[in-house]
Amino acid sequence: MSMFKALVVRKTETGQSVAVEQWTDADLMEGDVTLRVSHSTVNYKDGLALTGKAPVIRRWPMVPGIDAAGIVETSSHPDFRFGDAVVLNGWGTGETHLGAYAQKTRVKGDWLVPLPAGLTAAEAMAIGTAGYTAMLSVLALERHGLKPSDGPIVVTGAAGGVGSVAIALLAAAGWHVIASTGRGAEADYLKALGAAEVIDRAELSGPARPLAKERWIAGVDSVGSHTLANLLAMTRYGGAIAACGLAQGMDLPSSVAPFILRGVSLLGIDSVMCPKPRRLEAWARLARDLDKGRLAVLTSTIGFEALPETAAAIMAGTVRGRVVVAIG
Ligand code: NDP
Repeated sequence: MSMFKALVVRKTETGQSVAVEQWTDADLMEGDVTLRVSHSTVNYKDGLALTGKAPVIRRWPMVPGIDAAGIVETSSHPDFRFGDAVVLNGWGTGETHLGAYAQKTRVKGDWLVPLPAGLTAAEAMAIGTAGYTAMLSVLALERHGLKPSDGPIVVTGAAGGVGSVAIALLAAAGWHVIASTGRGAEADYLKALGAAEVIDRAELSGPARPLAKERWIAGVDSVGSHTLANLLAMTRYGGAIAACGLAQGMDLPSSVAPFILRGVSLLGIDSVMCPKPRRLEAWARLARDLDKGRLAVLTSTIGFEALPETAAAIMAGTVRGRVVVAIG
């Protein structure tokens, strides 16, 4: 039986250990499709799993990695055959199911989407869960009826993965994008992605008043906590904020004032269990709308061995944009 390398996290008495191991197919979990993983990526959640900073891993040992792009090696699923190029995001991979930081993984075919036409495996992982979540946020705002002519849009965690892709998508769609970042030195980067204005995240990170001066009609928030409360308090009448993250915190110290006095809406975004039709819609829109030049600007690439240090960097908030991991 052929061996392949896997980055394995094991539980120890003091916490967890991370090491590259040689595994065989017999180590993989149940599933009707086995993939040769060519590329993965590092999302915030992968950082949490690899560093052990939050209890993301709920099965031991675990191969982290919530996103994979690769080629079908074997399949008994009717939709997939040997040689098909596919993308995997979420569904518990890297949490309860062995994930993408291995040269092979075995999953349910129902979790897979075909690699969208026009994207390479590396580009799909440059997008990854962070970028697909940015697209889900844009789709939610569109379904709410919001459009660029309604007013500006704010994007928080702007220099991070979700934020960077959201800026590129929204700017391409014609929005006036206000990028909120703690990294003022990245202003030129954010403008290269399409941001019209860059503001200091400190403006939004303190306790919010119930209502404040109206600054935008919409927002994509990957930060949560006081930042989300401030976004809501500063949203114009009838606007909406898509909430997808918790980089500042999981709390929401807000009031009902924006909802009942300005008709503001809070749109919840989940990528992990998102139903397949919406995933396919998001990936089709990403393949169509995301400018390849801007995707290249926000992407860096690492090798397998750099995963632990990159996980620590994303937790420290020093990773810019998106990171592709060359696995194969
Ligand atoms: P990144 O680490 O790439 O980006 C997060 C960004 O948030 C940072 O770059 C930083 O941006 C900002 N930030 C970090 N700490 C703080 C803080 N204390 N206060 C304010 N801003 C802060 O992560 P991702 O983009 O991959 O993920 C972002 C968030 O979205 C995470 O919480 C993640 O769990 C969540 N997420 C949720 C998904 C879902 O399904 N709902 C899917 C994917 C991600 P800057 O330096 O510009 O200020």
